[in-house]
Amino acid sequence: MSVRVRFAPSPTGPLHIGGVRTALYNYLFAKQAGGQFILRIEDTDAKRFVEGAEEYIQESLGWCGIYPDESPSLPGAFGPYRQSERKELYTPYIQQLLKDGRAYYAFDTAEELEAVRERAKKAGSVNWQYNSVTRQSMRNSLSLSSSEVDRLLSEGVDYTIRIKVERDKEVRLHDVVRGWVTVNSSNLDDKVLFKSDGLPTYHFANVVDDHLMKITHVIRGEEWLPSAPLHVLLYEALGWSDEQPVFAHLPLLLRPDGNGKLSKRDGDRLGFPVFPIDWNPRDGEGAKGFREMGFYPDAFVNMLAFLGWNPATEQEVFSMDELVASFDLEKVGKSGARFDFTKAMWFNQQYLRKRSASELTQDVLGELKKRNWSAPERLSDICTLMTERASFPKDILAEGSFFFEKEVHFDEKALKKKWKDDASGNVAAFAALLTDLSPFDAESIEKVFHSVLTERQLSFGQLGPAVRIALTGGLSGPSVFEICALLGKEACLKRLNSSIAALK
Ligand code: GLU
Repeated sequence: MSVRVRFAPSPTGPLHIGGVRTALYNYLFAKQAGGQFILRIEDTDAKRFVEGAEEYIQESLGWCGIYPDESPSLPGAFGPYRQSERKELYTPYIQQLLKDGRAYYAFDTAEELEAVRERAKKAGSVNWQYNSVTRQSMRNSLSLSSSEVDRLLSEGVDYTIRIKVERDKEVRLHDVVRGWVTVNSSNLDDKVLFKSDGLPTYHFANVVDDHLMKITHVIRGEEWLPSAPLHVLLYEALGWSDEQPVFAHLPLLLRPDGNGKLSKRDGDRLGFPVFPIDWNPRDGEGAKGFREMGFYPDAFVNMLAFLGWNPATEQEVFSMDELVASFDLEKVGKSGARFDFTKAMWFNQQYLRKRSASELTQDVLGELKKRNWSAPERLSDICTLMTERASFPKDILAEGSFFFEKEVHFDEKALKKKWKDDASGNVAAFAALLTDLSPFDAESIEKVFHSVLTERQLSFGQLGPAVRIALTGGLSGPSVFEICALLGKEACLKRLNSSIAALK
């Protein structure tokens, strides 16, 4: 049987990176097995629907290179791929459960349910459940006479349909990540399967669709583990136990300190995004994304793959193809995976270093364009020189700002520390010797520099930092000789001389 997996997000807002990781693991698993990866939009909860969320999901997956084989925009043989467009498909199955006595009508109003919960709370029970015991005293087709039920239905009063969970049955399921999970059915409630608006709830639609779409493996976040026993009961009630998919519940993504689930608030507080791409809703709060922060999609994907899985070797940098080849659901850990932004940057740095000179030049040109800056002549060489100091292309602009700005901006602290009284004279002597230098390359410039040291009896520390300040305004950066060479003779001399004049 060919592997078919699905990513089934609800379009309730931007997709958290935890969701992207779920999509990624599904994708890797499917591709390794030569199977299909399906995107299904679970939008039966109209109250929580958020405009633009589905587009956001599709765009995020596209940016990551996670391409569904079937989706709302690429329908296959099992469509539609939006649950709101599948309404009619669910009806025969809920009818079947009603007929078989595995589900029942419940006429309790929201107010009645609220009142029961309140009463239970006062009596000391916080977790009131609609179940095999309490259902007897509620208004449903199990507690009311059949003539009363017929009357209510013919009058068209609102109702929901609930699953009838039998008491004291062992529900067992095997999870690839967690092993055997067993719960007693007495701890489960009679969940609503159909709402009064005539739409199925998540649980019902999810199970029916997984069956109809021939899903073989359900790989999803840990937060759905508590729902899995109910899903097992539903497969059983519908007579589909033999075709029940294999379950794998992925560990949570945790905050960097390991205390609790990673949330948007943590990202805001600690200064990193928790979403793949920027989220700009027409109204409501926006959010920052990894893409706009300058991450390469393959670095982002590589980083995400390692949040919960690792190949148990030293290798950390994996292309998508390598991930497809190496991923192993059996090696996914049970415990939560801490998100580490420093590590995310490290991954990006690795990918930046792997860029060819022309790719990196294009990346930096993009950044220059955003700022409306013009490109210096030897941009490609500048990029190569600055690679070591950058995690993102934009770092090349920040760390090597002196290559892009006409004026030198002096750092006061650097001046205080390293621009001594004799600095102007020493730098001027160096500049004078550069005037006729040919070729104007780093090696020749360094020779000139050393001749000044000898002639003036200076240590490296007495001249090097002063030259650097005159060229760049500060004390850090790559080799001053390389900087001189890349600036070119004219610009280099202009800088040295105007800095000497400014700092006299
Ligand atoms: N619609 C659910 C969600 O938003 C899907 C959970 C599942 O994969 O079963 O995450």
